[in-house]
Amino acid sequence: MSAAHHHLSVHDLSAPPEPPNRYLFGPGPSMVHPRVYQALSKPIVGHLDPYFIQVMHEVQELLKIAFGSGGGSTLVISGTGSAGMEAAVANFVEPAAKLAVFANGYFSDRLTEMARRQGAEIVRLEKAWGQTFADDEASEFIRREKPKVVAYVHAETSTGALQSGRAICAAAHEAGSLVIADCVTSLGGLPVEFDQTGIDVAYSCTQKGLSCPPGLSPMALSERAMAWLRARTAPARSWYLDLKLIHDYSTVSHRYHHTAPISMFYALREALLMISEEGIENRWERHRSCHQVFVREIEGVGLRMHVSSAHRIPTLNTVLVPGGVDEGRVRKRLLEGPGIEIAGGFGPLAGKIFRIGVMGPLATEDNLQFFLAEFNKALRAEGYSI
Ligand SMILES: *Cc1c(COP(=O)(O)O)cnc(C)c1O
Repeated sequence: MSAAHHHLSVHDLSAPPEPPNRYLFGPGPSMVHPRVYQALSKPIVGHLDPYFIQVMHEVQELLKIAFGSGGGSTLVISGTGSAGMEAAVANFVEPAAKLAVFANGYFSDRLTEMARRQGAEIVRLEKAWGQTFADDEASEFIRREKPKVVAYVHAETSTGALQSGRAICAAAHEAGSLVIADCVTSLGGLPVEFDQTGIDVAYSCTQKGLSCPPGLSPMALSERAMAWLRARTAPARSWYLDLKLIHDYSTVSHRYHHTAPISMFYALREALLMISEEGIENRWERHRSCHQVFVREIEGVGLRMHVSSAHRIPTLNTVLVPGGVDEGRVRKRLLEGPGIEIAGGFGPLAGKIFRIGVMGPLATEDNLQFFLAEFNKALRAEGYSI
């Protein structure tokens, strides 16, 4: 409906919203469990209330399990994944500092743009969208550039490629650089292994691997990152995302910085609680085994995956659009028929891939078979013959 035809009357507003039923098989937001919706609807308390402070602490502790971080700090930024990205850049990439970016997709470009706006000197190692960096080329790049900070995207949602951080972190620490890892899509769905990998700063979101509504960005900071933060003399250029202030508010003094989104913390606590009840390893395994079935079935009908088998994100499958099929029409058919949402590609992958998330409550054999049957039906209706 065009804006000109949209005359809102009070009548339209007299009933609560009735969103259509959707099966969210896209890259995010992912499905939210009823328990998390229940938590969202609980009465709020003040943001300095001892009860809320306790909720915030519990969230920080539960996040350590999901991140695989022991020492250092976990905290939560009020904003979506991009706010976590901006907090990482604004606090750790100082003006004129050299930042090395592993660039192989849309989100490393977003990171680059944020760092550019902070006045950083940026060097990039580029790869085609869907490829990853091998250990030796990653270390060679860092040894050559000797950057102050290194950034990479663990699970690149625009391509479906998973980048191991081991060699990047090892080379960065040897060069005295700090490592920022984008874990927006990976946290909760697959191992982040923050400590084991050697990440210094990781940020994520609530609406992908954690199966929560969007609105918060969990972060993990290593002891090294905390020391960097303390040693910083010029304040970060962003007041709202100043991690010194946010860390002080959320873990030390609990002095007012900004009003935390109370209800979203209830939701995140419930989602993390459900993860710990299931067992984080069991959850990873559930996603991994659904991914294996997905690939087997997809290849069984003659379709091909975009990313090579050793570097796939288990929670987000990227499937090549078969020749002669219009991917936009397949997506429209799925949304308008069974109410299934999936995503297409963009940038250099526009029209070339489907992005299909199998995560959270949807990552079960039954749900997957339901999806695959509908997906095949839609493909056939659009002219694909198996
Ligand atoms: C979704 C995503 C972001 C941005 O998160 P928002 O919650 O949309 O702000 C950043 N990086 C990656 C890898 C993502 O998938």
